Amino acid sequence: MPELPEVETVVRDLRPYLVGRTITGATIRWQRTIATPSARVFARQIRGCKITAITRRAKYLIFHLRAGQQTKFFLAHLRMTGGFRIDPHTAPRDKHMHVCLWLDNSAELRFRDPRKFGRMWLVDDPTQVVGKLGPEPLEISTRTFHALFEKRRGNLKPVLLDQTFLAGLGNIYVDESLWYARLHPLRRVESLTREERARLYRAIQSVLTRAIAVGGTSIDVMYTRVNGKSGEFVKSLRAFDQEDRPCRRCGTPIIKMVVAQRGTHLCPRCQRTLK
Ligand SMILES: [Zn+2]
Repeated sequence: MPELPEVETVVRDLRPYLVGRTITGATIRWQRTIATPSARVFARQIRGCKITAITRRAKYLIFHLRAGQQTKFFLAHLRMTGGFRIDPHTAPRDKHMHVCLWLDNSAELRFRDPRKFGRMWLVDDPTQVVGKLGPEPLEISTRTFHALFEKRRGNLKPVLLDQTFLAGLGNIYVDESLWYARLHPLRRVESLTREERARLYRAIQSVLTRAIAVGGTSIDVMYTRVNGKSGEFVKSLRAFDQEDRPCRRCGTPIIKMVVAQRGTHLCPRCQRTLK
């Protein structure tokens, strides 16, 4: 499932193809992909919009659009299996391409989503969709990061997965960050020392930055880049998907357990429940 580094990669991959292009129409083959407005209104309103910028907020792509004097925002969330492709409009569409936006250069932006969980929005104000999210982990200062924990209680991993606490982390990067920070996923957040929180902050920053630099993590067919290449961070994983392999720090086999209904990977020696 794409997380912050994968979505950032998709945004960077799409920019050179799309910024400055005008959308001339849309084919919507699975209406439920369009969360708001209705598929029919979406197709009508997006026609004639020029893409002026593409940005990211947490795991959302945000296409900034202009139509005459009006500004609109097209947001997309890839969820489990969503992905974008740019194809010539003459290239055959496969059955998983549920939304195709026609471009003024005879290409199409195609949203391919076998599991159909991906969602799109066309709104006047992006905060309608992303307004309740927590801060961006790569933009937050150490001070603000510490402040996040002041009123928070609960187990560490579920808290880090909560998008209103910190936005953009999912299963892969939480497991990786906790391994680097040497913290157990079930540690109570209120029990973390200042030093441990600082370690966690540095781990999250480092893991996300390095993952973005190599195009994210492709474990399976769930995520590939716009041009079909793989995300190379899979070679740098230390905990996630590493069950039974020796911990790179101490040699103890990595174990897998279930936390918050998610498969969770950790080193039982480096990441103790208590210090
Ligand atoms: Zn270890």
